[in-house]
Amino acid sequence: MRYIGRFAPSPSGPLHLGSLIAAVASYLDAKANQGIWLVRMENLDPPREMTGADQLILEQLQAFDLQWDGSVLFQSERLQAYQQVLDNWLTNKTAYACRCPRKQIRASGGIYNGHCRHLNIPVKDSAVRYLNLYPQTEFKDRIHGKVIIESQRASEDFIIRRRDGLFAYQLAVVLDDIYQNVTHIVRGQDLIDTTVWQNALYNSLHKTPPQYAHIPLIMGEDGRKLSKQTGAPALDCSKSTSLLVEVLNRLGQNPPAELKLESNKTILDWGIKNWQLNKVPNH
Ligand code: GLU
Ligand code: ZN
Repeated sequence: MRYIGRFAPSPSGPLHLGSLIAAVASYLDAKANQGIWLVRMENLDPPREMTGADQLILEQLQAFDLQWDGSVLFQSERLQAYQQVLDNWLTNKTAYACRCPRKQIRASGGIYNGHCRHLNIPVKDSAVRYLNLYPQTEFKDRIHGKVIIESQRASEDFIIRRRDGLFAYQLAVVLDDIYQNVTHIVRGQDLIDTTVWQNALYNSLHKTPPQYAHIPLIMGEDGRKLSKQTGAPALDCSKSTSLLVEVLNRLGQNPPAELKLESNKTILDWGIKNWQLNKVPNH
């Protein structure tokens, strides 16, 4: 089977346990399927980035012996490609400019109602939305099976370029996964709902969407998703072996306890050899 997978961190800070799980799960799934594992730095949003976090993340991956294939793609190198698609879509009316304030959308239920679809608002200083004429409402997930997304949300005209001029994750992720020929995506469950938006973009570009597996998130003590924004602690790379074994446990793989006395490489090799996606918990 042809398999190209990837891990796509945003350099808003160093990896934490939640992002390490996504890294390890995508790595093991790729390697267990004789696949290629790419790393892509999703540095699309400078205001939310931390200087040097990109290098830190790569060093952390290496400290865990998570060696990627090929060279790292930085989204900051891809702006022209995004712009080209955006321009095409604006020209052929697959996308349109919108200046509705976020507050107003929130006040009317949080789902954008297509207000600016036919208003021909100038693009400059506007957000750009995808005209979601053929919304996808469901997809098959390798962990969750059939995932059905509420149709109002699924058919929203979502933002592909923000009003401040930055490209939106939804657009960049699809264009990059196509560009890198990614066939399998293993990532956190927080991205499950907008997968249908991404699939709508694949269809629009006449490309087959990849296969998806969404892994459970780690919750912090406050019950929120562990993330850089909620102040998740950085990983202690000097404890890499026990962290890797903890990750294997959280992924439902049941590693033998003695495994943490081994090297990272031995632990990862055990993980590859024994990888069972169907044991990954779905919540
Ligand atoms: N860059 C995204 C994040 O760090 C992940 C994107 C993806 O895996 O599709 O949350
Ligand atoms: Zn609008």
